Amino acid sequence: MEPVGSLLRMSEWPARVEIGEVGPRDGLQNESMVPVADRVRLIDALSATGLRRIEAVSFVSPAAIPPMAGAADVMAGIARRPGVTYRALVPNVRGAEMALAAAVDEIEVVVSASETHNRKNVNRSVEESIVAAGELTALAHAAKTPVEGIVSTAFGCPYEGDVPEVRVAAIAAQMRDAGADRVSFGDTTGMATPRRVHTLLDVLGAVGIAPDSISLHFHNTRGTGLANVLTALGRGVTRFDASIGGLGGCPYAPGATGNIVTEDLVYMLEDMGIETGVDLDKLIACAKMAQQAVGRDLPSHVLRAGPVNWQGEGQRCAP
Ligand code: MG
Repeated sequence: MEPVGSLLRMSEWPARVEIGEVGPRDGLQNESMVPVADRVRLIDALSATGLRRIEAVSFVSPAAIPPMAGAADVMAGIARRPGVTYRALVPNVRGAEMALAAAVDEIEVVVSASETHNRKNVNRSVEESIVAAGELTALAHAAKTPVEGIVSTAFGCPYEGDVPEVRVAAIAAQMRDAGADRVSFGDTTGMATPRRVHTLLDVLGAVGIAPDSISLHFHNTRGTGLANVLTALGRGVTRFDASIGGLGGCPYAPGATGNIVTEDLVYMLEDMGIETGVDLDKLIACAKMAQQAVGRDLPSHVLRAGPVNWQGEGQRCAP
């Protein structure tokens, strides 16, 4: 019989979590170039796993980010599965126009919580980026397309180090006021720990941004990714980004791990009795496909270990 304390804690977990797959964009953006046809194949396979939100492309300058070239071709090539939201990241109004022309289901716009990171990334101040986010949000809403505002470097900056949580919360509130339908927080540098997650959620609560209204985008750069998810689950967060196979790496630490791994996250959540709606076997097949597409071993634990199968040879591990 379960100790009562455990049952109480487990009863605080949400019944269902929505996973936002970011491999085809955030993942492949940080990998060597993958042909459009392979990107289309991967997105179509992902959309057949039960994932309902897929970050498919970004409409950025191909000169600035070569692996994202051909975004319109990718959007035209995929087989749109009903019920799946295909999302695109855009850097500016021009990008939003291209995304709307490609009939994406949702637009994402990023503002960094760190002034230095924002300037190095988009050569604009944070204030200017928030104004631009408001403009492109108006454009998207006129086309009945929702917008997610992403606050990057929300748990730390590669240039400034710690980013005050009150600053992260203030920028999130400005993006919400600028019309963002939802706000997401990115652990761009992989600095997040459960302590940082608790503190940010506390400060967000103080400005009226509730855990069940946000998304969290964790990296596993220092091995804390799923610990951060678990912490946030206990606080009532129900939306998390993850990347198939762990595609992507860390843009600030060559060779290091980036996004948390979709199949590792699904394995953990489903075993906790939290519904994801995602088929783990199909997901593992997608991770194999992603690994082949980039031609390197990906940092996925479940891809290496396989799903739990007590008849399988792979389970006879020494203690
Ligand atoms: Mg990422």
